[in-house]
Amino acid sequence: MVFVIFVIITSSMSGCFGSDELFDESRGIPGGLALACLQDDKFEKMKIHFLFENGYDPVAMELVKTRLTQVCDKPDGVQIIANEVDFAEDNSWTADDVRDARWKHGDDAMGSSTLNWYLLFPKGTYDDESVLGVAVDASTVAVFKDSIDESVNFLGRPSADEIERAVTVHEVGHLLGLVNLVYQSPIDHEDPDHPGHSSNDDSVMYWAIESSSIGNIFSGSIPDDFDSDDKSDLEGMASGELKCSDQLWS
Ligand SMILES: [Zn+2]
Repeated sequence: MVFVIFVIITSSMSGCFGSDELFDESRGIPGGLALACLQDDKFEKMKIHFLFENGYDPVAMELVKTRLTQVCDKPDGVQIIANEVDFAEDNSWTADDVRDARWKHGDDAMGSSTLNWYLLFPKGTYDDESVLGVAVDASTVAVFKDSIDESVNFLGRPSADEIERAVTVHEVGHLLGLVNLVYQSPIDHEDPDHPGHSSNDDSVMYWAIESSSIGNIFSGSIPDDFDSDDKSDLEGMASGELKCSDQLWS
């Protein structure tokens, strides 16, 4: 009896002083590490971690690096880290599942002078199967390749690879705070019917990019870059001209 009580007390103590809660860094909201990327004040280097299931290799690794390098200030560079992971979950994903998998297989976003973002490519679909990609906190996104394959129209244009490239950049755009997630743009380019998204179908932040209706909306080319309004917002945030809220540091 005494032994049992002792064990319980010890385990609860170790929970208290372990890394479980006390030292966990805040995970924030999408856009919460936008300035951490756009400015070099604290993070001079950035690593983009691609965690993918066997057979789910990301097609947009270099493109994401290119897009981030274009807008972010990282004097020591942006580096791609690719890791195959067994997520051991093969059907339906919730936002919590995505967060849990990232923090199980990945590490903190801000542990050092390097900023770490995580892009997950799991097997299976989001619990809302019309969703092709999600941004779930300040440094985590998931892209659902099974759903992307399903969303290709009978013409095969845009192709699954083209859709995946657009979806991946789109979710990274949410981590950068687009559109109006952690700031208010002086330009009227947020779609009132789809908050957080661009009203311009030439922008990668257009709402339909992360939706399974994409194959019906785009026939042929699909944007995989930010438009001039998105870029103007990012420049304003980087320069300090646009005030940013919900930042995990600064
Ligand atoms: Zn979106």
